[in-house]
This record gives sequence, C-alpha cells and structure tokens, in this order.
Amino acid sequence: MKIIEVEPYDPDKRTWSEPEPATSFRTIDGMPMYWCDDRGVVHVCEGADIHPDARVYWTLCGKDASNDWVYLAQDEAITCPLCREPRPYEKPPHDACGAPV
Ligand SMILES: [Zn+2]
Repeated sequence: MKIIEVEPYDPDKRTWSEPEPATSFRTIDGMPMYWCDDRGVVHVCEGADIHPDARVYWTLCGKDASNDWVYLAQDEAITCPLCREPRPYEKPPHDACGAPV
C-alpha cells in the first residue's frame, strides 16, 4: 500500500486554488499614471495586469487608455473634470478570458 504524504501546512507559503483576481493600481513606482487623449485632455489612469503579459489601462472616467500613451508624472495638471473627482477603485473593464464582467 502506498502512503501519500501530505505536506504540512505552512501559513507563510501562499497557495492558490484559483487564479488571483487582477488587482488594479493607480501608481507605478509611486508615480501616478496619466493619459492624454487626442483632444489634449489629461485623464487619470488606472491599470491592471489581467494576464502575466497583458496590462490594460483605463481612465477614471471610463475610457480605454492606449498602453502606448499612458505616462507617469508627478503633479500633472488633470484637465478632465470627471477624472479630477476622487473615485473608488473599479473593476477592470476587460476580462482577458472573455468571461462576462
Ligand atoms: Zn477622464
């Protein structure tokens, strides 16, 4: 008879039974993220790593922000009135797996 050894539970070792949900962030290395749209309006951005190699950004007012144009700045003048209002964190607008959001 074969005895299956069970690893002792180690509270310091994190184990995941399911994928960790994407955590959104508003700063990178402590710098806030901004996005300037094609009308020259500066928005505040939030981002999330929805996949190990896929990062998405969106503005606090709900626009998709192109990854190529998101930049980091300290004390940038936010010209979008909606982005100037502090808002709670929202879920990423996209789901990499195509599951309903
Ligand atoms: Zn905005």
